[in-house]
Amino acid sequence: MTVDTGWNFDNSYARLPEALFTRIKPTPVRLPKLIIFNDPLAASLGLKSPALRGDNGTAVFAGNEVPEGAEPLAQAYAGHQFGHFTMLGDGRAVLIGEQITPQEMRVDIQLKGAGRTPYSRRGDGRAALGPMLREYMISEAMHGLGIPTTRSLAVAATGESVIRETEQPGAVLTRVAASHLRVGTFQYAAARGVTGDLKALADYTLQRHYPETEGTANRYLSLLHEVIKRQAALIAKWQLTGFVHGVMNTDNMALSGETIDYGPCAFLDTYNLDTVFSSIDREGRYAYGNQPNIAAWNLARFAETLLPLLHDDESQAVQLAEEAISDFTELYYQNWLWGMRAKLGIFNEEQQDESLIEELLGMMQKHRADYTNTFRALTLGKTEDMALFGTEEFAGWKKLWEARLDRQKESQDASRQLMRSSNPALIPRNHRVEEALEAAVEREDYSVMERFLEVLSNPYAYSPEQEEYSTLPESCSGPYRTFCGT
Ligand code: AMP
Ligand code: MG
Ligand code: MG
Repeated sequence: MTVDTGWNFDNSYARLPEALFTRIKPTPVRLPKLIIFNDPLAASLGLKSPALRGDNGTAVFAGNEVPEGAEPLAQAYAGHQFGHFTMLGDGRAVLIGEQITPQEMRVDIQLKGAGRTPYSRRGDGRAALGPMLREYMISEAMHGLGIPTTRSLAVAATGESVIRETEQPGAVLTRVAASHLRVGTFQYAAARGVTGDLKALADYTLQRHYPETEGTANRYLSLLHEVIKRQAALIAKWQLTGFVHGVMNTDNMALSGETIDYGPCAFLDTYNLDTVFSSIDREGRYAYGNQPNIAAWNLARFAETLLPLLHDDESQAVQLAEEAISDFTELYYQNWLWGMRAKLGIFNEEQQDESLIEELLGMMQKHRADYTNTFRALTLGKTEDMALFGTEEFAGWKKLWEARLDRQKESQDASRQLMRSSNPALIPRNHRVEEALEAAVEREDYSVMERFLEVLSNPYAYSPEQEEYSTLPESCSGPYRTFCGT
């Protein structure tokens, strides 16, 4: 008798033009062991936890077995990496298929670290346990924060080592995504110059993510506009929570509008637009304050790929693309501004809001205030124990803010509620992430990570057990650094 695991595949990507992917199975590993499994996510996908937590599930999540109905493949894509164009593809990931959920949603189930593919170049196709658990934690934290993101279903250890700077235990992450269509996927099709393939890809993306555009006069132009809209909303959310992606290459920008590829990302502690965590981002291309600019740059690369579809006349196509791209900055800014108003408990629009917000941010930067904790303190009305709050400047600002709140018709209570739902009480702080990873990787103690994930699942709860997670590290030995390509 076969156990019902709940897999329900329908693999539309495998029906796209052959040039866009390569059929390949995950490479089996020596000794699979399930390290962590996401029961609530599994349930929402229609997957059966008890069965999948067993040997059968472990074999699937490690890449040793392909579940029934799956059609594994590696996707081809290209990308601008730190500004340089390269032909890429899933070098260490295999899309095992698309799960159709009980709510009729279609999601990609992808194994990351599943072995070499034709797109591996010089890489080993594998991933280390630490970085895969890191992606699991941060992506789930992002979900808790209400930021569109790929999800993490499972991490399985492989029983094999990977060689990085040191020898490390290997692992496979099961990533769940609305899709893995990227700006880079279009760049790949455009670079090959087969317009039929590009068109098939665009039609596919429209159908999968933007079905509401059906019937519009120029659907490819609608595609561009809709992708721009979702990115404007997404990047605003990153900025509002202090998330630094770290490697916003065009291959890491998803057309669904989800955050994808958790490599060297981290959250701000002190507010500073120049913040860079990634050790390889020496020029600050992907600095916190530069993320909106880079998003616009990436979207322009996307628009370029669509030119042959936008209009038969090239100069008209260019004009349409340029008009669409020029919308991004304002769209982003409006998303950000409304988000900032909400963080300050403001419901309506006043001319001076921008200066009120800029003034606060300016003071935060000057006094090296912790970004999350400043808004948390304002939310709790506990403006005491931070250096910023003792200044005259702040006292002056606070009067203006209070007067601003008094001028709106909503009650103080409603304002506080809005602030509570807009300002997380906690974020995955770097030292806490490291602490959880160390326990897991060095001591095989997963309890630290599990407890952390629990509190991160509702960062707006303001519950007592979250309090300890808002404290800053006692001493810092220089700026926090993150590493890529692990
Ligand atoms: P990323 O910087 O994570 O966006 O990855 C950039 C490209 O490098 C993608 O095409 C990855 O599939 C590929 N890649 C990253 N790590 C490895 C690895 N260990 N083996 C093979 N390919 C890799
Ligand atoms: Mg990537
Ligand atoms: Mg990566």
